[in-house]
This record gives sequence, structure tokens and C-alpha cells, in this order.
Amino acid sequence: SRPSYKWRRVLLKVSGEALAGDHAQNIDPKITMAIAREVASVTRLGIEVALVVGGGNIFRGSSWAGSSGLDRSSADYIGMLATVMNAIFLQATMESIGIPTRVQTAFRMSEVAEPYIRRRAVRHLEKGRVVIFAAGTGNPFFTTDTAAALRCAEINAEVVLKATNVDGVFDDDPRRNPQARLLDTVTYQEVTSKDLSVMDMTAITLCQENNIPVVVFNLNKPGNIEKAIKGERVGTLIGA
Ligand code: UDP
Repeated sequence: SRPSYKWRRVLLKVSGEALAGDHAQNIDPKITMAIAREVASVTRLGIEVALVVGGGNIFRGSSWAGSSGLDRSSADYIGMLATVMNAIFLQATMESIGIPTRVQTAFRMSEVAEPYIRRRAVRHLEKGRVVIFAAGTGNPFFTTDTAAALRCAEINAEVVLKATNVDGVFDDDPRRNPQARLLDTVTYQEVTSKDLSVMDMTAITLCQENNIPVVVFNLNKPGNIEKAIKGERVGTLIGA
């Protein structure tokens, strides 16, 4: 019998920036190992975990487009490839501590990873494997946050857990305003109307339209990933 945690199946979004930490290289192995350990402990409890990984630590299409004649679509394909690098790194780290993990890419690179096949992803999860979705949505002009919302809806995960370098959603920009307060809960409406820059509009509205709650939390605090996956109070909950 399964213990009763809040979530049965979650979609954990890990941004590229969060993977970088303060390491001189693009990826901090201490961070990937911390993620692997915390994910390992919840999968042992029977909670199904799928990941979407970003690529901003290596390449962000929007900030390169325009320079040196790089068109947006080409830049975005490079960005999507960056997410595959992070995914393979995370997979190797997870498997080094014994978590069976599959990477599925939104466009084919079949020597490296499985192609995204929804039913197969669900089957992996049911068997207790972690699935990492890479290459975003496979389309330029989108983000991995949107990929997280999309995959969450497709595989019937119950929540998007957005692991970031900040504690959650604030009522103002905490870097500019030291009085900014961390919010426990916030509505989709408030996020979009007040432009609380937690997720791009496409991602947040996709969550709203499909009633997918989003938890924004800081992955740099040990134990936070585990807490978020178990449905314990952490960061900010975005909902209706
Ligand atoms: N990207 C894309 N389509 C997608 C997802 C990502 O074109 O569906 C590209 C885009 O260039 C983006 C880059 O991949 O800048 C890295 O993803 P993202 O910026 O979302 O990563 P994160 O901010 O989470 O590190």
C-alpha cells in the first residue's frame, strides 16, 4: 500500500541556471548530486517523478538571437540542444546512485536518448523510473517552462514544481526592493496581471487553462526538493 503523500506524480522543472550554482563550469556536480539524492529518496516512497530540464546555464536562444546574424530559430535549436547536455548529465548522476532514469528528447537523437513517446514515458514512471524530458517542446520560440507545463498536462502529473535560485514568488522584485515579501500563495491571475516574472506567460496560462498548480521554490536549500515533491509547504504555491 502506498503512503499518502499529497502528490502521486510530479513534474519537476530544474532551470539551467539552478544547475550552474557558483561552479566555474556550466554545471555544478554538487547540485546535480543533491538533486539526484533528493529525487532518489522520494521515488523510494513511491512518488513518480518526471523532470524537465532547462538550458540557460549553457545557451539561451533569446539572448543570442540577432548577434552575428543568428536567427531566433537557429539560436533556439542550440538552446534546446543545451538542455540535452544537462539532461544527460543529470541522468548519469541519477544512475550513479542507482536510480533508473530515461531521457526522452522532443526531437530525435536516438543514439543518445529515447524520442519522446507519451505512453512510454508514463510506463517508465509506473515502473518507478525517473524520466527526464529534454529539448524543451522541440519548437523554437518556446521555453522549458512551457515544456514543463505541457509535459505535466500530457502525462497527467498533478503539479509543476519549479526549482529555482529564489525562494518563491515575491510581491516585488527582491533584488531592487529589500522590503519585497515572499508570498505563500498567489493566483495565476495575479502572476500575469502584476507581471510577477516567475514563468513566461505561455507557460503560466497553459498551467491555468489545465488547472495545474505550480510550486516555485529554492533548490539551494537542502531538503527543499524532497519537501516540494512530498507536497510539504515550501516556496510559493500558484493556483486558481
Ligand atoms: N528552447 C526552445 N524551445 C523550447 C524550450 C527551450 O527553443 O521548447 C530553447 C530557448 O532558446 C531557450 C533555451 O532552449 O532559451 C534554454 O531553455 P530555457 O531558457 O527555458 O532554460 P532555463 O531558463 O530553464 O535554464
